Amino acid sequence: MVHINDCPLCSSVNISLYLKCKDHFLSKEVFELFRCQGCGFVFTQDHPEENGSDRYYESDDYISHDDKSPGVLNKIYLLARKIMLTRKREIVESAAGLKRGSLLDIGCGTGYFAGAMKNAGWLVTGLEPNKKAREFSSRKFDLNIISPEQILKLSSDSFDCITLWHVLEHLNNPFQYAGEFVRLLKPEGVCIIAVPNCSSFDAQYYREYWAAYDVPRHLWHFNPHTIRIFSQRSGFKVERQLNLPFDVFYISILSERYRGSIAPLLKGMFIGKLFWILSVFRNQRSSSIIYLLRK
Ligand SMILES: [Zn+2]
Repeated sequence: MVHINDCPLCSSVNISLYLKCKDHFLSKEVFELFRCQGCGFVFTQDHPEENGSDRYYESDDYISHDDKSPGVLNKIYLLARKIMLTRKREIVESAAGLKRGSLLDIGCGTGYFAGAMKNAGWLVTGLEPNKKAREFSSRKFDLNIISPEQILKLSSDSFDCITLWHVLEHLNNPFQYAGEFVRLLKPEGVCIIAVPNCSSFDAQYYREYWAAYDVPRHLWHFNPHTIRIFSQRSGFKVERQLNLPFDVFYISILSERYRGSIAPLLKGMFIGKLFWILSVFRNQRSSSIIYLLRK
């Protein structure tokens, strides 16, 4: 277990218990979230070491929502994924100002996004720690997928865009990675980071049942303020913020399920819609946020 004594963002020793959350998804173990009094950063205290975290990822569900899996939630997920693949491509092309370029997708999983970008004409490299997922995506999309240690071998200033779609919160060493991203991006390149927002309406409503805490797989729980500190410390500046429209629905339905609601789908859709409308006016409080970072 990794015990944190001072804030990873601002080094303050004023850190204290914020919430206790259960791993509803897999192990059912309880983990503590700590919050820094200095900068407000929230993180999972006593989280698993990088080489001891495999057992928290063992469900196949986590690696990939299979196209043939049953269940309403899975069907919703697949439909949302299809729409999101197009939306993500548009975001990349608009942020990079290119219709074709070089892309590094960190934590590419089963490769659906990386594959879609390759089909759109981009030169794509994927990085994925899970061997099974690496083999799947190489086979299915004929992609160039590397393992994490191979990132050091990639040439400097070689990518127009680096993407992390809900990946930063899983990384044991986010600062080390961010340093590599600065090295790998071309001077005009853009780093796109999508993460859950722990200051969102849904996070504050569901508290310890908020599905996007997802302990102990999520180690760091960012909000717009702490992502700015993270970016500055890493040599980036946040240029823009965008929203991910479906996350609030998916997260609300899962959170309703975690807290034992009788009709999680209906209730989650209702609450999700309410928060979605509110976040149109208060974008800082939307369930997930996409940050565009430049050197
Ligand atoms: Zn701090």
